[in-house]
Amino acid sequence: MQTIAHWLDGKPFAGTSESTAPVTNPATGVVTGQVTLANQADVRAVVNAAAAAFPAWRDASLAKRTQVLFRYRELLNARKEELAALITAEHGKVLSDALGEVQRGLEIIEFACGIPHLLKGGYTENASTKVDIFSVRQPLGPVAVISPFNFPAMVPMWFFPVAIAAGNTVVLKPSEKDPSASLWMAALWQEAGLPDGVFNVVQGDKVAVDELLDNPAIKSVSFVGSTPIARYVYQRGTAAGKRVQALGGAKNHMVVLPDADLDLAADAAVNAGFGSAGERCMAISALVAVGPIADELVSRIAERAKTIRTGDGTRGAEMGPLVTRAHRDRVASYIDAGESAGATVVLDGRTVAAEGDADGFWLGPTILDNVGPEMSAYTDEIFGPVLSVLRVDSYDDALALVNANPYGNGTALFTNDGGAARRFHNEVEVGMVGINVPIPVPMAYYSFGGWKNSLFGDSHAHGIDGVHFFTRTKAVTTRWLDPSHGGLNLGFPQNH
Ligand code: NAD
Repeated sequence: MQTIAHWLDGKPFAGTSESTAPVTNPATGVVTGQVTLANQADVRAVVNAAAAAFPAWRDASLAKRTQVLFRYRELLNARKEELAALITAEHGKVLSDALGEVQRGLEIIEFACGIPHLLKGGYTENASTKVDIFSVRQPLGPVAVISPFNFPAMVPMWFFPVAIAAGNTVVLKPSEKDPSASLWMAALWQEAGLPDGVFNVVQGDKVAVDELLDNPAIKSVSFVGSTPIARYVYQRGTAAGKRVQALGGAKNHMVVLPDADLDLAADAAVNAGFGSAGERCMAISALVAVGPIADELVSRIAERAKTIRTGDGTRGAEMGPLVTRAHRDRVASYIDAGESAGATVVLDGRTVAAEGDADGFWLGPTILDNVGPEMSAYTDEIFGPVLSVLRVDSYDDALALVNANPYGNGTALFTNDGGAARRFHNEVEVGMVGINVPIPVPMAYYSFGGWKNSLFGDSHAHGIDGVHFFTRTKAVTTRWLDPSHGGLNLGFPQNH
């Protein structure tokens, strides 16, 4: 059985910890490896490597940095199937979906290839007589990226291309559930010519995270995961004086107005609700049917969802297993709870006949209708293939429901009414909004992030927010002395 360890100074690093966690193939239930869980000393060794590599990388020319990024982009593009296969083997998502994840990550690398333009500062001539001012953006130092299980490649790539391009060094702490992608991406950096120590990986759990939050050499933390841990990471990291962006959980609503095209809305609800078995932070988990269309919409969604083939992602299935048995059982318990609370189980994934190994962590697409806002199926982030349908009378009721929800990651409105769409994107308190687009993940050159309990901190990921997060500005005021500047004056500098 393979042991998955850390990556330090351009090569695998075993560390000294004896603690491990099992890594499982969710489609078979077979334990395929064990991941080392770093102790404090292991984390410190990795952080020290990142700190040692910083001065030279900070001073590497933009030409050199972008050459490495372009090479990384080319290598990844040529070999993305390998990475996708690794993701499917440990996460369970189907291969086409894993490839889609890598593709979205590649787009951030492409964005980061434009770093010379993104880092340009401002210049003001003659701010005062013969006094000029310019501003520059400089890297922070070693930065930490802590990622969740559901996007083992894309989420780290939301951060590390921009961080590295801007001249920082990186310590990635991936999820212990699917850790192999991180080492594959690290080895690819080595091949692309990134100097040793600029990109490092430490495997682990809370012990590793806490050391990264406390270690004074780490200057910023980019975290993605569940809301309670995001809040904790934000509080502990900022208390230690670091910049923190901590992206949390979600409950994404799709509101369907009576004038919407119901076939398009039904397609979108199925794709966004059950893609990646609902284990996406931008998955649609609450469908809000407005007015008299609810029965017809639910029936069209059910018709489509019934046809989804749940099974092994390497064998042509459309929806894979859940990530662990415990998570599968937890998601199923929400279906039980919804049913007991009075929701109608229109489609029951608990009895799915999966195309795969009997020991896989299967749960089929599930639709719960007549869900009330007080039911746990609505109040909690389920993170599985369960679509809860809530019925409301009006646009205002739908908006009030979305805005009252403590999460604010993504939302979508389906309508053909431009005025209603305009009102919605203006009034809704959510960070990413789709109009007839069910999963409105912004492109690399915009920034990704939610509001309310879906993000702690004030910086979203990638785009300009990402560039600002990974740099700090310096304003330089210059005057080239000539004899007219002599004389003593203790007053506060004034401009003439
Ligand atoms: P998680 O919160 O359990 O884990 C995330 C990371 O935190 C992992 O690296 C994990 O090792 C670490 N961690 C776990 N418990 C910890 C603790 N007690 N102390 C310190 N660190 C700890 O999340 P997950 O189950 O891996 O991922 C799913 C969650 O991530 C969902 O809630 C999903 O909505 C969220 N997510 C959000 C976004 C977003 O952009 N907002 C994107 C992807 C996933």
